[in-house]
Amino acid sequence: MLTDEKTSVRVAVRVRPLSVKERAEFQKPCLAVSDTESQIIIGTERAFTFDYTFDCDSEQDDIFSQTTKDLIDGCFKGLNATILAYGQTGSGKTYSMGTGFDVSIPAEQLGIVPRAVDYMFSVMQNRHQEHIDQNRTPPLFDVLVQFIELYQDELVDLLDRATRSARGKRGKPPRLGEDKNGNVILHNVCKKAVSSREDIMEWLKQGALARTTGSTNMNAQSSRSHAIFTIEIKQTIQQLDENENPAEFLTTSAKFHFVDLAGSERLKRTHATGERQKEGISINSGLLALGNVISKLGDKNLKATHIPYRESKLTRLLQDSLGGNSRTLMIACVSPAEQDFVETLNTLRYANRAR
Ligand code: ADP
Ligand code: MG
Repeated sequence: MLTDEKTSVRVAVRVRPLSVKERAEFQKPCLAVSDTESQIIIGTERAFTFDYTFDCDSEQDDIFSQTTKDLIDGCFKGLNATILAYGQTGSGKTYSMGTGFDVSIPAEQLGIVPRAVDYMFSVMQNRHQEHIDQNRTPPLFDVLVQFIELYQDELVDLLDRATRSARGKRGKPPRLGEDKNGNVILHNVCKKAVSSREDIMEWLKQGALARTTGSTNMNAQSSRSHAIFTIEIKQTIQQLDENENPAEFLTTSAKFHFVDLAGSERLKRTHATGERQKEGISINSGLLALGNVISKLGDKNLKATHIPYRESKLTRLLQDSLGGNSRTLMIACVSPAEQDFVETLNTLRYANRAR
């Protein structure tokens, strides 16, 4: 169990660098990151404090080692974890999370997921070796991955889509249900057993390629769906009794969700109509509900109050990995460009509430 309440929800803000285009347009940064106080100062005097702040010079490995490594160590102790990338389209969510389909990028640019996968496999290898060295039965690890997209109110199994698209057939769509203890379960979802980093990266790539994308006049590549990549680790370890003799086997499991949220930008700016507008409404209600859940979880004074998971499919889907026996990190991604001032301020407010 978690002992330090404060550690269950954390919020990081990452500022991406100005793009080549923004620099060509002489856009100026509208915010500054304070070196000493984990603060972001936007405009002339507004300051927001977060658990972590990463300025535009921060490297992919800084984010991973400061925010994620510890969550993975927790998974091997049976604690679930969730990382949510929040922000407007183009703010760096997919870049930070590393859930794009282009997995053959330079090593230093790899995002959180590939780094997490490497680290998980190194932990498993070390555990294995430690047991061998101590003449103990090595632990048994089962690793499963799943990749779901939430588009409007529909769940899409990306790995099912990736494996079936060649034949044009579709399985039944995933469906949310509940077991008799009230735990959320996802029916009709395929989980792929993996045994190496390469296996996981291949599924990530296949799933990312299968994602639904459309276009608006703001950013043709923008994604208006939430993508949830999950790694589940089951470990069976032989326990030792009080005399350090081998005793019974114990199996524990933990899930790590990596969530690349839909763009948080407001509808007005993208001039959305019709179908696009409908998408916008369902995205906003999911993000709103998520914000409500996270802010309740983070509020120590409200510990015993009701957490409103049922307000949206997104929060229902993540219910067993938000709160309880789980740790959550929100990475709010922001653009420093003047032209994005309003969206950046909205993101900082949202993230500040989550803290
Ligand atoms: P989002 O997923 O939020 O829409 P992306 O992750 O696709 O945004 O980022 C938009 C663009 O900015 C991409 O070309 C990406 O490579 C670039 N980018 C984002 N964050 C960084 C960063 N920290 N350093 C360098 N380039 C970045
Ligand atoms: Mg993206």
